[in-house]
Amino acid sequence: MNDVGPYASDEKGLFYALDLGGTNFRVLRVLLGGKESRVVKKEYEEVSIPPHLMTESSDALFDYIASALAKFVATEGEGLHASPGRQRELGFTFSFPVRQTSISSGTLIKWTKGFSIDETVGQDVVGELTKAMERVGLDMRVAALVNDTIGTLAGGRYNNPDVVAAVILGTGTNAAYVERAHAIPKWHGLLPKSGDMVINMEWGNFRSSHLPLTEYDHALDAESLNPGEQIFEKMISGMYLGEVVRRVLLKMAEEAAIFGDDIPPKLKIPFILRTPHMSAIHHDTSPDLKVVGTKLKDILEISNTSLKMRRVIVELCDIVATRGARLSAAGIVGILKKLGRDTVKDGEKQKSVVALDGGLYEHYTKFRTCMEGTLGELLGEEVFENIVIELSNDGSGIGAALLAASHSQYLENISM
Ligand code: BGC
Ligand code: MG
Repeated sequence: MNDVGPYASDEKGLFYALDLGGTNFRVLRVLLGGKESRVVKKEYEEVSIPPHLMTESSDALFDYIASALAKFVATEGEGLHASPGRQRELGFTFSFPVRQTSISSGTLIKWTKGFSIDETVGQDVVGELTKAMERVGLDMRVAALVNDTIGTLAGGRYNNPDVVAAVILGTGTNAAYVERAHAIPKWHGLLPKSGDMVINMEWGNFRSSHLPLTEYDHALDAESLNPGEQIFEKMISGMYLGEVVRRVLLKMAEEAAIFGDDIPPKLKIPFILRTPHMSAIHHDTSPDLKVVGTKLKDILEISNTSLKMRRVIVELCDIVATRGARLSAAGIVGILKKLGRDTVKDGEKQKSVVALDGGLYEHYTKFRTCMEGTLGELLGEEVFENIVIELSNDGSGIGAALLAASHSQYLENISM
């Protein structure tokens, strides 16, 4: 839970943001111009993380991030540079479960997605980053630590006060929403001035005997970096959908010899079939399913599949994507219900905007349409008319910069 509101929307100055949590991380600098001009200018760079750094050592990972950040800082130019004598400040979007101890500190509860470095667990991740910045000679202060859902929510509300929740459908999945503080039984602290709190649900870790788990899900989970954890995420998010499909295909190859008598060796390699490949297969509209053929050949070294078999594979992608999309819609409906926004009150037309970010939602069209269709189905047309799903691309980066700005050490110098 964070008390992030109401942050003034008139933050000014140059701020940095760093976004760590997917396959790439992003560095961003924004010039905030206050109430009138808001985001005057922004520049960003995306850096991919060498996979070995996700599992080796805390220092190696944070050193890599800090030096990429330092390089980016060195490219400050005309119109977008820090004021002389002022320490640069950063909003750190860290998209893993954290026990937040203050706006600018928090200990890692566990890694998720492809990350797994035991020694970081229980450490203050801001401390880890700050030490790495010192090692690479970068003078920067982490002013805010935020989850990507919180960043997306903050960035979304900055543009549109009707944003009530933020959902990430990317490598991982999660959601956050704005709640009246008095409705939070776990909250024993002082009530924030606004009375509003944001809740990071960490819904990826949801599990229930009602979830339709198959033998493929159980095997995927058991062989994952985090067995028993993130069960909802493993059915929904971009890191896993392609892997579920691969596992089903392997079983079909073993039991029904769908690719002939020999099992294609590549099909045995975990995570070889990525969700973007699955999406390309799923969206193939050519009459002879040419794309399916090419993907099977290029990725799995399977050639000469019959048209009938290709159709079966497209159908399989559809089943796996549909399940994930419908489960994510169910999660969103759960939030709307909690907020009392799943009904239309006295003909009142109150808009509820959900800010959505993540590559899965952005790029996997059939996933997105199925999720939105399911929302309509579950909520009914009349309610759904007032629900807006807004792609909030890089909302989390801007949001982190905003939160850094509203917790700046120089705040007293800014006229509000
Ligand atoms: C993490 C969340 C994060 C989500 C989306 C999950 O694996 O636990 O903290 O918000 O991925 O990036
Ligand atoms: Mg992200």
